[in-house]
Amino acid sequence: MPRRMLDWFFTPQCAACAAPSTTPFCPTCATTLVECDPERDGELLTPFPTLAPWRFGGALASAIRRLKFAGKLHVARDLAPLWSPVVAAVVHQHDALVVPVPLHWRRRLMRGYDQAWLLAQHACRDATLPPPRAALWRLRATPAQSALARTARQHNLVGVFHARPADVRDRAIVLVDDVVTTGATLSAAAHALYRAGATTVVGLALARTL
Ligand SMILES: [Zn+2]
Repeated sequence: MPRRMLDWFFTPQCAACAAPSTTPFCPTCATTLVECDPERDGELLTPFPTLAPWRFGGALASAIRRLKFAGKLHVARDLAPLWSPVVAAVVHQHDALVVPVPLHWRRRLMRGYDQAWLLAQHACRDATLPPPRAALWRLRATPAQSALARTARQHNLVGVFHARPADVRDRAIVLVDDVVTTGATLSAAAHALYRAGATTVVGLALARTL
C-alpha cells in the first residue's frame, strides 16, 4: 500500500510508544537512540565485516520487541529510514543480494511472520533496491540464542543453516538480521552461504547489543 494512503488510514505513530509522530520515533523516544561508532564500540567478532548502525536499547529495543512479540508489523516499515541508507551503500558497494537470516518455519508459522525478513523488505523498498532473496533456511529449530552463553550459542548453530547454491553462487551477499549480539547466528548463516558458493558476505543488523 502506498505510504500516503497508509498515513491517511492510520495516524503515523512512534515505533516505540505509539504516540502520534510523523518521524520513526517521537521526540522523547528519539533522545534514547544511540548511533554506533565503530572506533568507540569496536569491531563485531565475525570472520567477515559486520555493520550495525544503532545500539540496541531504549526506544529502539522497545520498537524491535513490539515488532517481534506484539505483532506490530508496521514497525518494520517505520524503522526502515533508520538503516536503509546503510543497506543501500553496502548493496551498491558490493553489487550484492540482500539475504535475511530466516526463522525456522515452525517459529515463523507460530509468529505469523519473520521480523528480519520484514525489516529487510522495508529497508530495501525505502532504498529502492530489489527485494530481499529467500536464499537461506534453517534445517532445525534451535533454542533462543538469548538464553545461551557464548560457546553454547556457537554450538547451538552448527549446521543449522542451508543456502541454495542457485541463488548465491558467485554473488556477494548482504546478510541481514534485526539484532546482532555475539555474531554467532550471522557467522553460522555466512558459513552456509560460503559453502553454497557466495563470494563475499557482509553482515548487517539494525542494532547491536555489545
Ligand atoms: Zn515515542
